[in-house]
Amino acid sequence: MARQAHAIRPLVAGNWKMNGLQANVAEALIVRDAVDGDLASIGADVLIAPPATLMTELSAAIGKSRLLLAGQDCHAAPSGPHTGDIAPEMLKEAGASAVIVGHSERRVDHGETCAEVKAKAEGAQRAGLIAIVCVGETRDERASGFTLDVVLQQLKASLPEQSTAANTVVAYEPVWAIGTGLTPTTSDVEEVHVAIRRELAAIFGEDGERMRILYGGSVKPDNATALMAVSEVNGALVGGASLKASDFLAIVRAYESR
Ligand code: PEP
Repeated sequence: MARQAHAIRPLVAGNWKMNGLQANVAEALIVRDAVDGDLASIGADVLIAPPATLMTELSAAIGKSRLLLAGQDCHAAPSGPHTGDIAPEMLKEAGASAVIVGHSERRVDHGETCAEVKAKAEGAQRAGLIAIVCVGETRDERASGFTLDVVLQQLKASLPEQSTAANTVVAYEPVWAIGTGLTPTTSDVEEVHVAIRRELAAIFGEDGERMRILYGGSVKPDNATALMAVSEVNGALVGGASLKASDFLAIVRAYESR
């Protein structure tokens, strides 16, 4: 039986990574003003994940803006002896409404396993945050033809059983496309997103049909329109191009004419 397509509100999320000092706050405020101004009726959610050091300040500065904030990582536990870590509850209190977990830079630089990513996503959901769960294949895995196996395996092992369309977003980020200027073809993106959607629907039913699936990996103003038009792409996770408000907003505008 053919699946029924659902209207899914897209999300464009900017991941500032380990970038962001006082001088960068102004960029976030430009985004805030656009999101509340000429982009107010664009029909997409817009989010920035600043470094944790700016969360409280940005939260106060954006106030009741439509612009959302997210953490870039969290610990699974609500509190405890974990020096240097941040609990999901802390991010929530500081003004975040979401947190990225399982970014490939965490999986590679910090050896995070899918089980740890799942525990972090559970912690995020417990705290009332949306868990943005990242999955993606390496260059070698794609070259060997294992892309779908790897991505679907990560998905199954990283998503908590209680995930819903409201508390979870999936981000498909081919590791080889992050920060490289390389992107898969739109048909390669579609193949993976359609496979993710099928898997989500099989696991979570109606919620899986409605869960947002973002594409991430070298999204720029000049490729955003084509990438965001791909079937089952419900927004973008943007790294480098989110640091400059004009570039980030140009990506958000891919949803302007829809
Ligand atoms: C990312 O870090 O999630 C990312 C997609 O980075 P970039 O857009 O710079 O490739």
